[in-house]
Amino acid sequence: MSPGCATNLSGHDLNRFMSRNRFFNSRLCRSMVASCCLLSIPVAMAFESVREQEIAQCWPGEISNWGDGRDRAAMGSPLLFVYKHAGAPAWFDSALVLSAVNKAAVAWSHCGIPSSVLTWPAEVELQRGAILVQWSESASRSNFGLANLGNRTLSMGPSAFQLLKTRNPGFDSRQTLQMVISHEMGHLYGVMSHSRRCVDVTSNYTNDKGEVCTIRGGASLVPGIEYRSLMPTACDIQRCRIANGKSAIE
Ligand SMILES: [Zn+2]
Repeated sequence: MSPGCATNLSGHDLNRFMSRNRFFNSRLCRSMVASCCLLSIPVAMAFESVREQEIAQCWPGEISNWGDGRDRAAMGSPLLFVYKHAGAPAWFDSALVLSAVNKAAVAWSHCGIPSSVLTWPAEVELQRGAILVQWSESASRSNFGLANLGNRTLSMGPSAFQLLKTRNPGFDSRQTLQMVISHEMGHLYGVMSHSRRCVDVTSNYTNDKGEVCTIRGGASLVPGIEYRSLMPTACDIQRCRIANGKSAIE
């Protein structure tokens, strides 16, 4: 996510990406809306409906990004990911994270780039260009996640997840885990510039100038409520297909 990552293809992080909402629990906030502010329920429901539509459909001309990177072809085709569980936070078991990696890989494969996921060790596959999905404080640069195209790694940061759990112990951090993996995997699929659509998993809520992402219909992003999809949206997939020279999905 750092603006510099697109120029050197070295990495994208989810630090700024998560910072606005890092310590807010979307479920908690929504339940608080429901329990404390009854008048806002219809608004919240309408808001959710728009969000679901934005996830499912990409309208013509709707794709928009911050221009902080240049989309490119995926790291390969097919893409092979190898998940290494060492160093993961104790509350994430290997099956859970592997499932999240698999879900992201299946979802992004609609880009037209097939993919599969193995578990570490897979030395031969890594030597042949597979992408290592790992937990690493240094490789993630202490962010939630970072895709390093040069090293062919997708790294997740244990301390960021620990901080999230410490500050908001009731939050289901599996959602954050899925979002981080889906977002970073998008970069490996070639979606480099961050989306201006708040809902896209490849979005950044703000840019360096303080401009804020957009929601269909002109609604404003509500601070503290995570609007971003956990999985690639229709527009994320459309952008990926364009970046990879695939025909658009009608
Ligand atoms: Zn990013």
